[in-house]
Amino acid sequence: MRATAVPTTAVPATAVPTTVPTEGARSVTTHATRATRVLVLNSGSSSVKYQLLDMRDSSRLAAGLVERIGEENSRLVHTPLHTPPAGDGAGKRERTGRIADHAAALEAVAEELARDGLGLDSPELAAIGHRVVHGGLRFTVPTVIDEDVMAEIERLVPVAPLHNPANLTGIRTARSLRPDLPQVAVFDTAFHTTMPEYAARYAIDVETADAHRIRRYGFHGTSHAYVSRKTAELLGKDPSEVNVIVLHLGNGASASAVAGGRCVDTSMGLTPLEGLVMGTRSGDIDPAVIFHLKRVAGMSVDEIDELLNKKSGLVGLSGDNDMREIRRRVEEGDERAKLAFDVYIHRLKKYIGAYSAVLGRVDAVVFTAGVGENAAEVREASVAGLEQLGLAVDAGRNAVRSGEPRIISPDSARVVVAVVPTDEELEIAQQTFALVSDNRTLDA
Ligand code: ADP
Repeated sequence: MRATAVPTTAVPATAVPTTVPTEGARSVTTHATRATRVLVLNSGSSSVKYQLLDMRDSSRLAAGLVERIGEENSRLVHTPLHTPPAGDGAGKRERTGRIADHAAALEAVAEELARDGLGLDSPELAAIGHRVVHGGLRFTVPTVIDEDVMAEIERLVPVAPLHNPANLTGIRTARSLRPDLPQVAVFDTAFHTTMPEYAARYAIDVETADAHRIRRYGFHGTSHAYVSRKTAELLGKDPSEVNVIVLHLGNGASASAVAGGRCVDTSMGLTPLEGLVMGTRSGDIDPAVIFHLKRVAGMSVDEIDELLNKKSGLVGLSGDNDMREIRRRVEEGDERAKLAFDVYIHRLKKYIGAYSAVLGRVDAVVFTAGVGENAAEVREASVAGLEQLGLAVDAGRNAVRSGEPRIISPDSARVVVAVVPTDEELEIAQQTFALVSDNRTLDA
């Protein structure tokens, strides 16, 4: 079968098997002939998000989501995107009713794809790329999955108890559906493994830290990698020439300092709880608050975990975790919403200042993800008063809504302030395809 909406000439067909070096001494052999599609899977504890891309032109062929897996009211939403007029998502299909587990979810996804002529049995499918949240210190690049890799992802479960088990379930299920197909793990932590030891270490007893793998790993790495590279492109420079502060502001939020294409610091730590104020997470907090909550308030460790991860941040301060709602309430004069906004902005400013110091020279500060791409007020407020750091926003440019990378600082500003939409699925697909289709070295 052929994808109809894409040109067929961009990738030369090669009939010879290609041997690709991967992590360590292992390698994978794959036939690259016309296999140009990559399925990207992001498996959460009760959800699976997916996209099927054609890597000849990076076009989306289909996208979708299975949510509430294991509950009575599971839901699959599938959007075919490969043939006009469905290219605008108009052909969206929905299934409701119990989907028992991840295996059933992936089978349902496979059925939906097959209905569009995009089945997982297609010879055009080159690989499946999995988002894996925690790769520890070992996985510094995208890695072809084998039993040993799965065992290591399993060994990392104690430092990623919510995410890695779900990622593994997705991997196991996908492998059982297409055991012959290369499956690639793309790690959220990989981009941050270049952090110098002094940025990655907590100042606690070294033996205790090492015994329990306690250090700063950082997350959202796929997004920080993609956005920092795109920012260099926007500036017309090579990534090695620019220093960038990336502010990934979604429901989860993290900042990173990227020097010449390499991450040198990031705000999330052992887990995604550290750093910026988020939708429901506190971000930075005095660790003694935890002892206090246990000793004085009598809360259990699980209750404190829930408080800091689910009931803090914007939702804890104001009752709402959605920045749109916070802004609406601020406009109405709501004091709690204003407090939440101010705490959020104050923390962001501190990180912009800190990472300016870490980088020494900053070429660009770039906003991305749901809040960063859409909330002009957040962008304006977080650089307000930072003229000494060379930062300013042009009100007219900042107000423009667009899905394209764009500069929002005035031409006269010393540091570029930009908005660069993130695309983690595309980044995962590109890294996966690069690994299985030839033996280029990846800049993870
Ligand atoms: P996730 O971390 O779940 O991937 P996203 O990057 O999609 O999150 O960001 C989701 C958040 O983006 C929402 O919770 C909302 O606060 C924010 N958001 C989306 N659109 C807007 C908007 N127009 N204005 C302000 N905030 C927005």
